[in-house]
Amino acid sequence: MALWVYDFLADVEGDDKRVMLTKEETLETEPLLRADILKGGGFYAEYRTDDARLTIENVKTAEANGALAINYVEATGFVYDEGHHIRAVRCHDRHADRTFEVSCEHVISSAGPWVDDLRRIDKSMNNKRLFLSKGVHIVVARERLPLQHACYFDVADGRMLFAIPRLRCTYIGTTDTPYKGDPNAVPVYREDVQYLLDATNAIFPTVDLVVEDVESSWAGVRPLIFEEGKSAGEMSRKDEIFESESGLLSIAGGKLTGYRKMAERVVDRLGRQLQEEGENLSKTTTRQIVLSGGPFADFDEVLAYEQEVAEQLRAASLAPQRAGYLVANYGKQSPTVIAMARERKEGSDVSRLACAEAAWCIDHELALYPLDWVERRSGRLYFDMPSIAPVLDEVLDVFAEAYGYSEAERERERKRVEDAIAWVSTFAPQPAGATTAV
Ligand SMILES: Cc1cc2nc3c(=O)[nH]c(=O)nc-3n(C[C@H](O)[C@H](O)[C@H](O)COP(=O)(O)OP(=O)(O)OC[C@H]3O[C@@H](n4cnc5c(N)ncnc54)[C@H](O)[C@@H]3O)c2cc1C
Repeated sequence: MALWVYDFLADVEGDDKRVMLTKEETLETEPLLRADILKGGGFYAEYRTDDARLTIENVKTAEANGALAINYVEATGFVYDEGHHIRAVRCHDRHADRTFEVSCEHVISSAGPWVDDLRRIDKSMNNKRLFLSKGVHIVVARERLPLQHACYFDVADGRMLFAIPRLRCTYIGTTDTPYKGDPNAVPVYREDVQYLLDATNAIFPTVDLVVEDVESSWAGVRPLIFEEGKSAGEMSRKDEIFESESGLLSIAGGKLTGYRKMAERVVDRLGRQLQEEGENLSKTTTRQIVLSGGPFADFDEVLAYEQEVAEQLRAASLAPQRAGYLVANYGKQSPTVIAMARERKEGSDVSRLACAEAAWCIDHELALYPLDWVERRSGRLYFDMPSIAPVLDEVLDVFAEAYGYSEAERERERKRVEDAIAWVSTFAPQPAGATTAV
């Protein structure tokens, strides 16, 4: 029934429509599932994305449409006119360690879990506030959980989890627990990992995953809109706009899936306000905007394109099996990265490609530190951890050359990458008083 509603609401068509499977068909489709409790399966279309890459492509597309994007700059306060309207945003450039102001007519804050921090600075908190819920994902090598498809399955406590194959890994998530700590550094505890492993082992009984199988992890917080008397899992995932008397428009909550709709809602709301003031802001055209690199018509086109990229890699004496990774990260921008790798004469094939990627990200994606590339630009910190160490020296060289690092700065950047690797791959026991994963 739920899948019928899903197809109906999302207007799902063609091959993407759900198919209900018998127990035998389900086991044929996903042989690792636990046969003794299985009743059947629903086979339906889901959409997997790398949220960091999606955000970066949005920023690049915004720039191509005239926006000015600034990296590593924090909004720390507001400057008001006599009528208590915001007229400038105070900023701290964390990269250059300097402060400055950006004058403005209007401010939209889409600071996610930090939206209330800015509302507090603006002294505009009202009866609605955010409730932060922590979610943890863990990553194991694909051969340790060799699924054919993404699987959505029950946990004994009534929640549901995903196990999602992605190139050389499978990731599993997520937890949903109240969180009161720093959203900038959300820890993954051993108990979080064990909860996900126990649930996975219960449904795929032959794999027997242990903590040592977990290569990487990530944790984030969902900014839910606080509702009295409800648990984290029960609170609505709806987005909400808060408007203050000073003119600060904040949008938070919601789902990544609906990001364009959220953007449209908040920008059009500002547009209506401007219209009332006699100004003209045309309606958003987000529906027509294509992200950088260009779209793929469907998944078949992605697979065909991967074949093309594999051929280009072969012709450049680079490993053709990196095609899937390149297309997943850089889409139709992959040929430019390959051309840059082809020009590099030094180093192994893996390091030539990694250096070309790093150089591309410095030139086109505001990568300021090697960790920017290791983490958000390439996703290797999460999805391909073993591929970092063999190329790290050469990638540090690329950044050192681009930004003129001293030897001490180069070592500082190496340490930052190593610390990040330790942060996502070691799991301390949960301190007394912290909420257990459910
Ligand atoms: C564990 C987990 C699982 C999820 N799963 C799904 C899913 O399966 N499907 C789905 O659709 N959604 C999912 N979501 C929700 C989705 O991630 C969020 O809806 C989405 O990230 C919200 O985007 P946003 O831009 O509003 O906020 P964010 O992505 O949090 O971005 C806010 C940005 O604001 C910046 N910022 C904060 N304060 C300041 C400041 N003072 N100055 C300048 N910049 C600032 C931050 O650095 C950050 O880059 C999940 C979330 C979590 C945590």
